[in-house]
Amino acid sequence: MDYHSKIARHLQEIPRSGIRDFFELVIGRDDVISLGVGEPDFTTPWRIREAAISSLEKGETSYTSNLGLNSLRDKVCGYVGDFFEVHYDGATECLITVGVSEALDLALRALLNPGDEVVFHEPCYVSYSPSVAMAYGVPVSVATKKEDGFSLKPEALAEVITEKTKVLMLNFPTNPTGAVLSDEDLKGIAKLCVEHDLIVLTDEIYSELRYDGKRHLSIASLPGMRERTILLHGFSKAFAMTGFRLGFACAPQPLIEAMMKIHQYGILCAPITSQVAALEALKAGEPVYREMKDAYHERRDFLVSRLNEMGIDCHSPGGAFYVFPDISQFGLSSFEFAMKFLEAEQVAAVPGTAFGESGEGFLRCCYATGMDKLKEAMDRMERFIATL
Ligand code: PLP
Repeated sequence: MDYHSKIARHLQEIPRSGIRDFFELVIGRDDVISLGVGEPDFTTPWRIREAAISSLEKGETSYTSNLGLNSLRDKVCGYVGDFFEVHYDGATECLITVGVSEALDLALRALLNPGDEVVFHEPCYVSYSPSVAMAYGVPVSVATKKEDGFSLKPEALAEVITEKTKVLMLNFPTNPTGAVLSDEDLKGIAKLCVEHDLIVLTDEIYSELRYDGKRHLSIASLPGMRERTILLHGFSKAFAMTGFRLGFACAPQPLIEAMMKIHQYGILCAPITSQVAALEALKAGEPVYREMKDAYHERRDFLVSRLNEMGIDCHSPGGAFYVFPDISQFGLSSFEFAMKFLEAEQVAAVPGTAFGESGEGFLRCCYATGMDKLKEAMDRMERFIATL
């Protein structure tokens, strides 16, 4: 069988995720310290697991409404109202999804006609560019710079907007750089979106994980932005619920309705057990993730100071659980550096280029790993760079 001719052409042009390729090398190796996959090292808090167990014990094993449980949608809108200060109607403006991953895919497929351009800041989450291409859109990246703490500057955004630009994708705090945006830049970006009549997809998955006592501001809450914004969020990161696969989208009703059509035919509904668990997570709120957040904060400070002490330039990211040190001084590509580091010292960190070309010269180290392992990884890093 000539499978090549059978598989959709646009899919064949999309490369596999650089992270997965890299981590296939590491799977099953107990000797390796992984600063790799962006997944909390904490187990989902017991209160949330208990709610899921109890739901199963009660025999709650059915489908739910396509949009998700009414009680969860109401709770989500209450949480979004309090946390992001933007208000949605649970009955018509909220869709419960299988992670932010599904919400992102639905939003792009609901919005794009072939050839529409989608702009996003880079380095960025590995799925942005492929998700746009799979929805027949054209990915357009704007490189962000170390000097700006990898935040998106309105001037840089203005340069790539064309007649064909339909959507702007934002993710602050950012995977893989931990970057955050200043209120001033966020306002400048919002102004451009209004001027060019863009729809904004704002991926808020790391919003709770902001450090230094700073509060997160979402573009959805700025004047004139609610009507043109789809707010995407989920439970994987702050609530340590990756395996529950639960997220949501909040947006004006016509946009949710369009996304719901795809969700209804493709997925039907998010799993009921996960929805019940998510409801419990929101009832518990900040106290249930505070300790994890404090631990990440401490680990970030440790990594940034160790890296800078050993002469590796690393900005202190305002959020998420990644640092993005500059390793360009060693004269190796990001991929070569990561491979040699893995071979020599058995530490896995992701080459910056897995997140786009502008990640060349950088390494992503995820600190959702225990402090003892982080200390050991930094000792090994110091030993490794002394050999270069
Ligand atoms: N968006 C960003 C920026 C991420 O880093 C991730 C996961 O790493 C996701 C979305 C996917 O999240 P979920 O587990 O909710 O599908």
